Amino acid sequence: MRFELTEDQAMIQDAARKFADDRLKPHAASWDEEKHFPVDVLKESAAMGFAGIYTREDVGGSGLSRVDAALIFEQLSRGCVSTAAFISIHNMVSWMIDTWGDEDQRQRWLPKLTAMDMIGSYCLTEPGSGSDAASLRTKAVRDGDDYVLNGAKAFISGAGASDLYIVMCRTGGDGPKGVSAIVVEKDSRGCLLAPTKRRWAGIPSPPPWCHSKTAACPRRTVWAKRAKASCSP
Ligand SMILES: Cc1cc2nc3c(=O)[nH]c(=O)nc-3n(C[C@H](O)[C@H](O)[C@H](O)COP(=O)(O)OP(=O)(O)OC[C@H]3O[C@@H](n4cnc5c(N)ncnc54)[C@H](O)[C@@H]3O)c2cc1C
Repeated sequence: MRFELTEDQAMIQDAARKFADDRLKPHAASWDEEKHFPVDVLKESAAMGFAGIYTREDVGGSGLSRVDAALIFEQLSRGCVSTAAFISIHNMVSWMIDTWGDEDQRQRWLPKLTAMDMIGSYCLTEPGSGSDAASLRTKAVRDGDDYVLNGAKAFISGAGASDLYIVMCRTGGDGPKGVSAIVVEKDSRGCLLAPTKRRWAGIPSPPPWCHSKTAACPRRTVWAKRAKASCSP
């Protein structure tokens, strides 16, 4: 099978390579050393269209394909692996809201996410389930206008720095079909970020994230369409 990049893809690849060489590579070692989370450079990456690579254009996304995204992440990784990986996670968040959110939710969050005016985290992993995402135990129970979340998450990249968290949680029975995704904005009532010494290079990732406390989310911030439990980072 022959696989050749289109002219556009070659240009996208070049642009990502240049960004990695100029803006990531010179700083990667010191960011790791100093445990620095480079929000300013994340915003610069958004200006390049890298915060919503395969998110639709009407909300500020780039409307590109997954192959285009892979080309970009490959180049960004040459400059700084952890920053590239975090950008890929942020893209998953943008994509989930673009794909499964309703129009109000898309308009509310995506223009900010695609500009990195909001930073997004993806919260699947739990201390007890790890790779076995379909066994996750964080529960969301409806309580009037709220959902009340109870559970613990671990290894959540960006936790503490992010503004918005997509939390995979159980609203139904056992197995993957009982899993939903709920958007929790930072500072939602009851959320606790446990202090941690562990970090992933410069990317904050305190385990556990939501520490067996209740997080009541106003109905408007909640969406409960089914999420695929298999899309772990
Ligand atoms: C740097 C970093 C950043 C991360 N960021 C995020 C994030 O932003 N959001 C998030 O949700 N998660 C994140 N994670 C978590 C990551 O997705 C998990 O580490 C991953 O799901 C594996 O879980 P675990 O570490 O508990 O390993 P385990 O599930 O304990 O697995 C350990 C090993 O056993 C193997 N194994 C497991 N089950 C089976 C089986 N049934 N059969 C055969 N082999 C098996 C696995 O392949 C693995 O090699 C991050 C992890 C790291 C290291």
